[in-house]
Order: sequence, then C-alpha cells, then structure tokens
Amino acid sequence: MVTKHLIRLSKSNISKNEIQEVKNVLEIGFLGMGQKVKIFEERLTKFFSREAICFNSGTAAIHVALQACGIGKGDEVLVPSITYVATFQAISASGAKPVCCDINENNLHISLSDIKKKITSRTKAIVPVHIAGYSENLGEIYKFAKKKKLRVIEDAAHAFGSRYKKKLIGSFGDIACFSFDGIKNITTGEGGCLVTKDKKVIQNSKDIRLLGVKNDSIKRYSGHRSWIGDVEQQGWRYHMSDINAAIGIAQLKRFKNLSKKRKILCKSYDKKFKEIKKINFFKIDYKSVCPHIYIIKITNLKKRELFRKKLLNIGIQTGIHYFPNYKYKMFKVSNKNFPNTEKIYREIITLPLHPELNEKSIKYISDKVINLSKKSIFYK
Ligand SMILES: *Cc1c(COP(=O)(O)O)cnc(C)c1O
Repeated sequence: MVTKHLIRLSKSNISKNEIQEVKNVLEIGFLGMGQKVKIFEERLTKFFSREAICFNSGTAAIHVALQACGIGKGDEVLVPSITYVATFQAISASGAKPVCCDINENNLHISLSDIKKKITSRTKAIVPVHIAGYSENLGEIYKFAKKKKLRVIEDAAHAFGSRYKKKLIGSFGDIACFSFDGIKNITTGEGGCLVTKDKKVIQNSKDIRLLGVKNDSIKRYSGHRSWIGDVEQQGWRYHMSDINAAIGIAQLKRFKNLSKKRKILCKSYDKKFKEIKKINFFKIDYKSVCPHIYIIKITNLKKRELFRKKLLNIGIQTGIHYFPNYKYKMFKVSNKNFPNTEKIYREIITLPLHPELNEKSIKYISDKVINLSKKSIFYK
C-alpha cells in the first residue's frame, strides 16, 4: 500500500525570486564566474563578518581549505565516523589521510577522548562536523587544537545560520566550510563556501579554485580572465557560476524566513516526542541553531530498515545520517574500535524536514512514528 502523496525527507525551497534572478543571468548571457558570484560573496562576507569564498560544492570548499593550509600527502586529518562521505573524500582528495574518530556517547559529534588516542606526529588538522546544524563540543575541540597547533576546518555543511555560544558559525574560529547543495539550509543548486580570517588561505583558495591561475578571481569578477597569470600549484576547476550565485542571492534574502520555518518544525517534533521514552532526540536549542535535519534515536531498535519501510508505505520518506565511514571499503580501518558509533548508528532515523512542511505534517509523521515504535516486531 503506497499512498499517492509522499512526504519527502528533504526538498529545495524555490520561490519566484530565485527564478527571476536566474532568468536575469540567462538573459545577460554571462554564465561563468562573474558579477553575481562577486555580489553573492560580498553578501556572505557581510553575513559572516568575515571573508567568504564560493565554490561549486561544499566538498570542494573542504578540499581547497585543506590544500590552502598546506595539508596533503603524508599528513593525517582527524574526522568523526558519522558524517557524509563528502568529508572523507575531501580529505583524501587533498592527499592527506582521514583518520576516523568515534563520536560522543550522547550526541553525534567527534569524541575528544578518541581524538587524544588517534593524534600522531603527522596529524595536521581536525575536521569537526556540525551534524544537524549544531556542535556541542566545538569549544573544547578548538582549545585542544590550539594546544597541539592543529588547524580546525569545520564541516559546517549543516550549520548555515547556526550559532555556537551566541556566535554565528563561520564568524569565529579557523576555517568553516558550508554547502549550498539543493537541500541545505540555503541552496545555490550546487555550491559551497569557505569562511576564514586567514588572509593566506583566502588568497590561496581563490587561486586553487581557478586551476591554480594566480589572481584570476579578480579578473573573473569583472567578466574577464587572466591569460598570462602564472600557475604555481595544483589547482582545480571548483569556482561557482553566476547561475548558481543568482539562486544564492535570492535564497539569502529569504533566509530568515526559511530558518524560522525549520526551527518551528523541529520544536513541534520535540514536543510530540517529549513524553515518549523510547524515542530520543538530541537536545538542541533552536534559539541558536538553524537545523538542517531532524534525527531521532529509537532505544533498542533492531529492525530499522523494516521500520523505515513501514513509514515509506504510509508516505513518509526517511533517511540515515550517516552510515559510519569506516565501513566503506575505501576508508576501512584495521583496528575497528568505535563503541559509541556502533551503539548509536543502528538506532538513528532522520525524519522529514524542509520549509514546505507544516504543523499538520509534523503531527501526521510523529503520530505514525510513535505508533510504530510501540510494536514489538522492530525490537527483536
Ligand atoms: C552536504 C554535505 C557536504 C558536502 O557538500 P556538497 O555541497 O554536497 O559537496 C559535506 N559534509 C556534510 C556533512 C554534508 O551534509
């Protein structure tokens, strides 16, 4: 039995403003990296009170951030087990080795005690991941990194618009990387950015994204390009196009509203699940966090796939954020010791969250989840 109306896990939110912005770019006929990217970067820079550089994906932003810090072959980068494979691939693309760390017992963030076990003389950076939009232990990660002279490159793909201790993610710290893919807090279609106050990283990143051609970014902003600029390092074709930037400009204008909707929906979920002992959710303060996803953990859940299938049958699409990366062939490790990850990841399910949903959809979804969670078939 499949209902004809499917509640999607996530969905882009596009208004006529984005369509008009893109239409303008198409009519102007300059589709590469130009004025629109410049304007979008200026607006982001104002938003973060720090310089922002745009790329064609969030993955590219992380890759370039590492390279711009001089991290590569022979280096190690500490990263949590539970993250999108993009984080791991970005690290290995730089030539460095992603060193997988366990997560905390009661949240999905990188465990500092495991970081202390995995650090070696080759460790150059930590990449904490702001899962769902928040990062409970970012402060202690920075403190530790400072002591050990490590770079911190925040995977803030989920955290656009979130605050940590009242400070906007990206407006402080070392480097923060955001994603603007289709379903993130704001989108450019595909895209991402890096935010930092490190002038060297900024200059380096601008060159790296344009195939390593020195100072090409400035030319591109005005519709030109550098024909004779020197190339001193490996570069990548990672810059953003004006079409994508146009979408971003419109989205940024609507962000307050989009963010408000996400927060309201998550607060409604929290309220619905508060009295249900079996269903746990992560304690997030939506005054400061703009949530990207809504994850629940069902105690002792053994048949998660069956649970998800039952939900899909009644029109509720769900997800898993994420499959532990050490289980992939590419990132396999020999001494598998991730007790918290093993305990937590089998019990997590991500419920639908996007601005098109309303209180009624949250009631429908949570009622169904609560009813199903009472059935014994999922626990043996
Ligand atoms: C989306 C995402 C990325 C990568 O961003 P893209 O823009 O899709 O390349 C990285 N890390 C996490 C946790 C993400 O969710």
